[in-house]
Amino acid sequence: MSSDRREMTVVGDGTVGGGVTPPVKAAAEVTVMPDLRLRPNPNNEHRPDNYDDLQLEFSPCIFSSLERYLPLNMLSSNRDDKAKFMSGIILKYLPREERARAKRHMEYKQKIISNYQPLHKELYTLDPTFFFVPSFLKAINEERLRDKKIEKKATSLKSIISEPSPGVLVFDMLQPKFCEMMLSEVENFRKWVKEIKFRIVRPNTMSNYGAVLDDFGLDSMLESIREDFIRPISEELFPDVCGSTLDSHHGFVVEYGKDRDADLGFHVDDSEVTLNVCLGKEFVGGELYFRGTRCEKHVNTDTKSETTISSSKQETFDYCHKPGQAVLHRGRHRHGARATTSGHRVNMILWCRSSAFREIKTYQKEFPDWCGQCLREKKERQRQTLAARKKELIRLEREAEEV
Ligand SMILES: [Zn+2]
Repeated sequence: MSSDRREMTVVGDGTVGGGVTPPVKAAAEVTVMPDLRLRPNPNNEHRPDNYDDLQLEFSPCIFSSLERYLPLNMLSSNRDDKAKFMSGIILKYLPREERARAKRHMEYKQKIISNYQPLHKELYTLDPTFFFVPSFLKAINEERLRDKKIEKKATSLKSIISEPSPGVLVFDMLQPKFCEMMLSEVENFRKWVKEIKFRIVRPNTMSNYGAVLDDFGLDSMLESIREDFIRPISEELFPDVCGSTLDSHHGFVVEYGKDRDADLGFHVDDSEVTLNVCLGKEFVGGELYFRGTRCEKHVNTDTKSETTISSSKQETFDYCHKPGQAVLHRGRHRHGARATTSGHRVNMILWCRSSAFREIKTYQKEFPDWCGQCLREKKERQRQTLAARKKELIRLEREAEEV
């Protein structure tokens, strides 16, 4: 497989100014006021507002929890004013460069949201029974009950998820009607961008087509998917990349086929866990190929494909997309997409990130839990230690005999 040998690309998101976008309020102009102050202690009697439906780039729950710390005279203000005030506070604590980048992205997003008319409003708020197939919904609900210790039985999570290759989870997820609606929403957005000749930021540094769903108002819906559906699965099946603490995301669609991107080169994602769901339509080709998970240091090492010891050690795996079906894998799992040779393929992708994992990663040197090469090296060291001990034992035995 020639792609194994290619130099690996780490794909970043295509946000304005590049890099990871710190979330910032998009609904209003935010001025960084020097005298913004929160109270040192929370007002525990105060019941905070819900910010879920506002177009905010910071997580709505940050606003709800920060609200208890607002100065007394702000507590009774309207929700928009409170959000504006709190955004100002959060911005104040971002490093200068990040603040400028966040401001640019906020203005960009604001421009889209105030001008773009959504085609299907029902897509913008999560409606689990409309979005998800019943088997998926049932398994997640059971997992939730188990989490809350209401139910002690094993969940059916594993019964709906298959793992055709280590670290590649496959399951049915989206309803056909939802996929159809999402496709037409994306098409509507694409037409709008073309009509008004708006220059949009592409979803990642390797795609020329597609769109960032977070940028045109789908961010809080995607946040609910991440928080309520992907996090429980990741907690159970990807604990080694802090699957239980996923706390931000980058959500987008990629489009392949004629007049779109043809394929996507070999790469790793800027995510801890990636959800990749095919929305449709009719297409030939476009298989995803996986070649083992690697840490940053080992990203260009060989793929393990020997099947002699155990077939489960096989790192080479190809997956054919099926509309509505999801693939979930670690961001560091090396992969690419082959050319979509005919038709048109659209996939919805959610890069889920954990700030806790990123913090831990800066202190950790080895990742044998998920990096194939780190594991190989660890085993090799163990083998050498064992061999050295054996040799030493033989030597001691011989010495004893001589005596
Ligand atoms: Zn490694």
